[in-house]
Amino acid sequence: MTACAIGLDVGGTRLSAGLVDTRGALLAHAQESTPPDGPAATNVLRRLTLELAERARRGGHDLLGVGVGFGGPVDYGDQSIVMSHHVGGWETGLKLAQQLAEGLGLPAMLDNDANCGGLAEALFGAGCGHRSVLYVNIGTGIGGALVLAGRVHHGAHSIAGELGHCVVKPDGPPCTCDKEGCLEALASGSALGREGRLAGLGQHITGREVAQLALEGDATAGRIVDEAAGWLGLALGNAANLWDPDVIVLGGGVAEMGERLLEPTRRSYQRTAMLSAKATPIVCASLGYAAGVIGAAALLFAPCDAAAGSA
Ligand SMILES: [Zn+2]
Repeated sequence: MTACAIGLDVGGTRLSAGLVDTRGALLAHAQESTPPDGPAATNVLRRLTLELAERARRGGHDLLGVGVGFGGPVDYGDQSIVMSHHVGGWETGLKLAQQLAEGLGLPAMLDNDANCGGLAEALFGAGCGHRSVLYVNIGTGIGGALVLAGRVHHGAHSIAGELGHCVVKPDGPPCTCDKEGCLEALASGSALGREGRLAGLGQHITGREVAQLALEGDATAGRIVDEAAGWLGLALGNAANLWDPDVIVLGGGVAEMGERLLEPTRRSYQRTAMLSAKATPIVCASLGYAAGVIGAAALLFAPCDAAAGSA
């Protein structure tokens, strides 16, 4: 009998679900686009959960529970949603994981999607074998997680690891969090797109397209990517001085550029990281989009620190 858990990755454009065993293997997987409002999305997630629970039962698997990675701020201690700004219309305080597992007699765990991605990479991906992993997801926004000995460090207010909202340029562009000059406002996919439009690369150019142009050798796009990498490296160096992780893992759509992003990021990192932390490897994530589902399921594998206080 294989022990496994259901993992649900709740994003603004798609809902992914999977049955994941304790070695991180995806035994089953399903994906749907996210409906425009919270209640409709909850219905889809509930259906996917029930289908996977039935699949686990038929396969004779030992189902450990239901884990949910939510694309927005989560109060981990309270196991509830704080704000639903990327995903339409879920109310503050909603205990989404508990609601989805209702009637199944299974434990349920909720965390934000970056923490789930980080947990998956630390346990089964590019951070595997390292005791402390700093994970940064660079997509439309920038999320992050610090995983210590297989557990996500949440901090006092579930804010730990939010590298995207560390201010690196006090007079910088406005951020989605209402501050100015956050790393997210300077190095996310949205920031690359904005700089591409300002630089005349196209009225509607996206961050992904700017990244692609940089990979093809376009000088303007290259300069935009180098500048973003400069801010990213600065933030990572400061984070390394604070946390001193064994490895830094970069995931998300923007990090798919690979060495074109990592090389200038490492150069900038060298200028802010101190002493031995300069040697900390900065590598690309290895699980791709599956990390969200695998990490959500892994919330049931890792020791639960919600009851015991912050890790
Ligand atoms: Zn911010």
